[in-house]
Amino acid sequence: MSKLISGKAIGASINEELRKEVDQLKSNGIEPCLAVVLVGEDPASEVYVRNKKRTCGEIGIRSIGHDLPASTTQQELENLVKSLNDDPAVHGILCQFPLPKGLDETRVILAISPDKDVDGLHPLNAGLIAMGQPKFISCTPFGVLQMLKRSGISTSGKNAVVLGRSNLVGRPIATLLSSKGWDATVTVCHSRTANLAEVTSQADILVAAIGIPEFVKADMVKPGAVVIDVGINRIDDPSKASGSRMVGDVAFKEVEGKAAFITPVPGGVGPMTIAMLMVNTVNAARSLNGMTEMDL
Ligand code: NAD
Repeated sequence: MSKLISGKAIGASINEELRKEVDQLKSNGIEPCLAVVLVGEDPASEVYVRNKKRTCGEIGIRSIGHDLPASTTQQELENLVKSLNDDPAVHGILCQFPLPKGLDETRVILAISPDKDVDGLHPLNAGLIAMGQPKFISCTPFGVLQMLKRSGISTSGKNAVVLGRSNLVGRPIATLLSSKGWDATVTVCHSRTANLAEVTSQADILVAAIGIPEFVKADMVKPGAVVIDVGINRIDDPSKASGSRMVGDVAFKEVEGKAAFITPVPGGVGPMTIAMLMVNTVNAARSLNGMTEMDL
């Protein structure tokens, strides 16, 4: 049986550390503040935004919601972002994606000040990761690293295989795992990779971020591997009242007998992603007030 890495538990302990840090900052007159921009009425985005604001409240971070109609123009959205860039009370800016059709996400990312880019999406922050000098790491990759660190898993000299090469998840995870301090030997796999199972079977650390339900089967996993499942997929399940349930990119039931460590879905990488958004917001507040980043 694998040891379960609970993102829920690790995320909760990070949030507890943050609560103390925020109290400390407030006693020095600094109230960390996250601006959350939501455009349109995508139900999944509304849930994500609600959870992010709720977690802010639990930690003591001030959150300011900007809910805009789907009819918002690109210029109006960028004007809002610019006004948030200029507002000294705002430390972090998050624009929930996907945006409604017709709005350009890249232009929005470019409009956000890199100093307030708590989602770590601005090319300057992506470039700093590539240079081995990260400032804001996008929240899911940051969460994956913290799960490994806080579970006492050493990555140095290990073979890591990352399934998926998206700018949001796969690519930054691969870059970070190969960087100084993490020191893994990393292979990135994608939809055109040949002999995928052969490659994944060599992985001491296997990260799945492809968005295909239960894609990684037991025969693709090396015995004793660490398996991190980033995937969030909804599949039909008539036995549930909702008619569906959430699964990852890993066939959990069969892989958990083979891996040494595994993350569940739900309760794995998901809660870590929100916790790291909070870390980035607190770090933004610290950095904009001339302080160094928190030591996690
Ligand atoms: P994406 O669609 O942008 O990228 C998917 C990647 O998987 C691509 O690089 C593609 O080449 C690769 N891929 C597709 N089919 C493949 C195959 N058969 N074999 C190997 N590689 C293949 O997705 P994303 O934004 O990177 O998200 C990936 C998954 O992670 C999704 O399930 C998403 O919901 C989830 N996600 C979870 C969190 C979280 O907080 N836990 C955050 C972001 C994304």
